[in-house]
Amino acid sequence: MQDDDHTATRLIHHPYTAPADFESPVVPVAKASTVYFPNMAALRARRWVDKSAYTYGLHGTPTTYTLEARLATLEHARHVLLAPSGLSAVTLVDMALLGQGDTVLLPDNVYWPNKDFSRHELARWGIAHDVYDPLDVATLAAKLTPEVKLVWLEAPGSVSMEFPDLEGLIRCVRAHAPQALIALDNTWGAGLAFNPFAMPQGVGVDLTVHALTKYPSGGGDVLMGSVACLDDALHERLAWTHSRLGLGVGANDVEAVLRALPTVALRYHAQDAAARQIAVWAQQHAAVRRVLHPALPDSPGHAHWAATCHAAAGLLTLEIDPRFSAAAVDAFVEQLEYFRIGWSWGGAVSLAVPYQAQAMRQLPQPYAGVLVRLCIGLENVNDLIADLGRGLDALTAG
Ligand SMILES: *Cc1c(COP(=O)(O)O)cnc(C)c1O
Repeated sequence: MQDDDHTATRLIHHPYTAPADFESPVVPVAKASTVYFPNMAALRARRWVDKSAYTYGLHGTPTTYTLEARLATLEHARHVLLAPSGLSAVTLVDMALLGQGDTVLLPDNVYWPNKDFSRHELARWGIAHDVYDPLDVATLAAKLTPEVKLVWLEAPGSVSMEFPDLEGLIRCVRAHAPQALIALDNTWGAGLAFNPFAMPQGVGVDLTVHALTKYPSGGGDVLMGSVACLDDALHERLAWTHSRLGLGVGANDVEAVLRALPTVALRYHAQDAAARQIAVWAQQHAAVRRVLHPALPDSPGHAHWAATCHAAAGLLTLEIDPRFSAAAVDAFVEQLEYFRIGWSWGGAVSLAVPYQAQAMRQLPQPYAGVLVRLCIGLENVNDLIADLGRGLDALTAG
């Protein structure tokens, strides 16, 4: 390159600025590590923690602030922080709110990696954990010592789908452990099944975590999580830990979630309706011992679901008759045509995974057969029923 060739400089410091008044249906994708300041006074004065300005890409861009504001609306919250996965949103809450000597309580049916984080990382840092039976408020009451600083709730349970008495559990914590904060993993409710901050009986949680990977993304292609709360001081506490941990999300992923968010309610309710139709159909099949879905009257915690929720996610679990071996149930899942084998849910493709209930839990489980968790996608529901029918018939015949 010639010393007198200034093209690079002229391209980098180009004087043209496009007119500002551009509006279109999608939010512009702002990408940044570096953010410019007009002068030193601005560099010294700008505040990111209340989202009033921009300082560095990790602390927020117009794109992330916009997604956070829209998610606050979805979750019925005031403040939202984005995390790189649902699990990192869970661990952010633990790290922001717990210290050496504290105890965290988890429902026995909690999303398994949440328990695993407590058993390994939290234990190394001198933070204890214990599990309670989500369907028995008295077992929670017995564990509410002065050391308990955080109580996790989840509704319904991952895989086994039992719906707890959320309001009873919250009242119990408020009465016996006023020092404890209450966090709900609201991935299933997604802000659409009920308002976790103001439940029908007038109680609410302090904060929620949401795996945006599921319904808000809707695509099976994005990993992201959020932490939502109402209280300003709690938000600041979470925001400082979030910043110190260096949690960032990619602008293209934020764009993907913003793009999917306008249809989240449509998709959620369509998958809810399809899952309920499949749940009712599956109840009559001889290979199925029991169908677990909180809207079914004989599913554990149905009355609590009915009292709290006006919708359900597109998930259900088949307890396969115990006369079928785990290997036979694996073969059933493997021969399904439309249900693919894989983790996660909330996307367009239906998924099936078999589980041994007892292996995941510390407390005794009432399930004798293998549990097959079904996540319902957006395929024609009659095609899904025919697919399951062929598989279950083959299982019975085999
Ligand atoms: C998927 C999921 C998570 C974690 O989300 P990732 O983005 O996969 O880390 C947390 N809680 C529940 C209930 C989930 O289903």
